[in-house]
Amino acid sequence: MRATTWMALALGGFGACLGAALTQQRTEPAPQTPQPGQHTYHAPDEVDKKAIRPLPPVRAPEGFGETAFAHVRTLVGFGPRYSGQPGWTQQLDHIEATCKELGLEVRRDTWTDRKELLTFSNVSAVIPGKRKERILLACHHDTKCTKGHPDPANNFHFVGANDGASGVAVLLALAPLLQAAKFEATIELVFFDGEESLDWKWNDAARALFGSRRYVKKHRDAELTGETTRIAAMILLDMVGRTDLHLQDETYSTKDLRQILWSAAVALGHDKHVFQRAESAADDHKPFLDVGIPAIDLIDLNGNPHWHKPTDTIENMSPASLQVVADLVLTMLPEVERQYVLARR
Ligand SMILES: [Zn+2]
Repeated sequence: MRATTWMALALGGFGACLGAALTQQRTEPAPQTPQPGQHTYHAPDEVDKKAIRPLPPVRAPEGFGETAFAHVRTLVGFGPRYSGQPGWTQQLDHIEATCKELGLEVRRDTWTDRKELLTFSNVSAVIPGKRKERILLACHHDTKCTKGHPDPANNFHFVGANDGASGVAVLLALAPLLQAAKFEATIELVFFDGEESLDWKWNDAARALFGSRRYVKKHRDAELTGETTRIAAMILLDMVGRTDLHLQDETYSTKDLRQILWSAAVALGHDKHVFQRAESAADDHKPFLDVGIPAIDLIDLNGNPHWHKPTDTIENMSPASLQVVADLVLTMLPEVERQYVLARR
């Protein structure tokens, strides 16, 4: 066991994009810049890689990666995209317009957090199926605020090409494919705001995950009055476009969904991009897990040297990675639908 591995074990995990619960238990600060291959924390409950389900591989059409990459370019061109920035408004309009062009019903939920006095907007777009139960495909659209932090090292120009734009781009590019696929389940694309921690370092879930916490609360309230349908499962994409793409075995995620992701990776021959390392990362799937909704986070955080750095730019991203992630999602979805929606008929 290497020293870095030991340290990660001792600290209970490396600080995630929103490394939440783990970070709270730290007794000393972890290094802020993970190097590739370092911090390879293997959790005791990682997936059984021998338990592979035979899933039919489904591949995104050739050129998908380029289409998604064009969205990344557009979003990055808007500049920083957190609440109050001009790019924040431009991005919301871009998401909404792209979904509306496809004829999707789009909802924008805008609210002001009373404590932080910040305005946030979640956007969701519905691809109706024969059944009302929903599978959520989600991402966050906000970028980390890199202004006004006490440590000058944390103040720099940041465009969040991977951390923010990649997930949005894949969802937008997947939307027409999901429409054409005609799932029985309803697919809801959700673009959360306020995922990023307002403090530079994650230290309290109350100052992050604003959009997903809001979404889950509204969902629960609507359930009480019978005004909404069941969320069967949630698939979250966060930081999915790095050239050296590696999706970690994110151990908060529902284990069965992780087995489906691993099986999809094997079926597609994409396994070198998946689960070479295991580590938890608190993210927008947590509020769903907290209320018992099965959820998985496809996230490339462990060992990502560009996380919350000025180098999170399109130069360090690749259309091929976006294509791989689309393949994974498209291969997972029929199995998720079969197991979490159709099997409950
Ligand atoms: Zn982030």
